[in-house]
Amino acid sequence: MDPIWLLLLLPLAAGSGWMAAHLARRKSSTTGKRQLPTAYYQGLNLLLNEQHDKAIEVLVKALEEDTETVEVQLALGNLFRRRGEVARATRIHQNLIARDNLDESQRTQALFELGQDYFKAGLLDRAEDLFRELAEMSEHSEQANRHLLQIYDQEKEWESAILVASRLGELGVDSVAPVIAQYHCEIAETAIREGRYEHAVEHAGRARVIDPGCVRAIIQSGRLSALHGNHDEAIEKWKQVETTNADYLGEVLDLIATSYRATGNLGAYRNFLEGAVDRHNDVRLMFALVDVLDEVEGSTRAEEFLVRWLRRHPTIFGLYRLIELKLKQKPRDKADLELLEGMIGSLLKKDSGYVCRQCGFTGKSHHWQCPGCKSWNSISSIQSRNQNFQYAATMLKSVKGL
Ligand SMILES: [Zn+2]
Repeated sequence: MDPIWLLLLLPLAAGSGWMAAHLARRKSSTTGKRQLPTAYYQGLNLLLNEQHDKAIEVLVKALEEDTETVEVQLALGNLFRRRGEVARATRIHQNLIARDNLDESQRTQALFELGQDYFKAGLLDRAEDLFRELAEMSEHSEQANRHLLQIYDQEKEWESAILVASRLGELGVDSVAPVIAQYHCEIAETAIREGRYEHAVEHAGRARVIDPGCVRAIIQSGRLSALHGNHDEAIEKWKQVETTNADYLGEVLDLIATSYRATGNLGAYRNFLEGAVDRHNDVRLMFALVDVLDEVEGSTRAEEFLVRWLRRHPTIFGLYRLIELKLKQKPRDKADLELLEGMIGSLLKKDSGYVCRQCGFTGKSHHWQCPGCKSWNSISSIQSRNQNFQYAATMLKSVKGL
């Protein structure tokens, strides 16, 4: 919940608690009864004037004086944690749990809050113990399991993460399958690194059963075939990336090229790329085709293809590759080309790499889990989007020798 709503609700929670407490003490005390409404209106007024920090101060001061009402203490602890004052929040929740007059629901709520305090403080072992206990209770089961999953994910305890994510799936939480598949891929990746290929095959296979759209498992499965020397099989597997999620085809091009080289059939690689370039507007495919044409049929043939491609897709990436090809032919008048290569090169640096669709994190290499927001499957290549720069076409015409 947004802190602003918490703030607005705090006086309500406090109000009900205070009302009960003060009704009982009505005869002996009248001061507190007046203090809460004053603080409430002051706080509300500050909130309406967008003075959030001052509003919090006023409300916290008023609420701190009520140490008896459980709801008020829970709200206060929650507020402290949100403000980053985890030690204060922890103290409040520990004191609450130590009381012997809490009903079952209040006690569970206090334990749940304390678990979140520990988690935020980085005391993951303690948080894990509490959330495991709470996961068995129906009231907070889903939330406790979600927190447990965050802990296991953070700690890279993939087997435990798989169990908890599966439980969340049973509780009706959507879209856990792609995440479970990623956990299996993590296990497979470690196994590949350690040479335990059978174990890797098993987990990559499980990932694909759980999530048939798991591109990473397809890539791993192909890598395992190639590691066993079955390059034709590996190539067939990697080609499935195109039908599963074509955005990732650019990620496997190097692997596909390596296996085609191992089979000595670069012509088949060129045929595959020609088809893929027609089917998808992804500059990485174009780059790969230019490279293989340059290698197999020479730079003139590569240039002819690239110029045709550029007419259909006037992109700065294509233009840059064309300048590279031209410079490779060692032209006499190359000053213009070199200047342009430098300019476009620095421009492309900003437009290359990867971006997270969830949080906007950018980086030079691909990650299956975003280093910024920790989401899985949220990072995609910027180049695969193939931005069309209209001025690339204009530049193309204006440069001597192009
Ligand atoms: Zn992210």
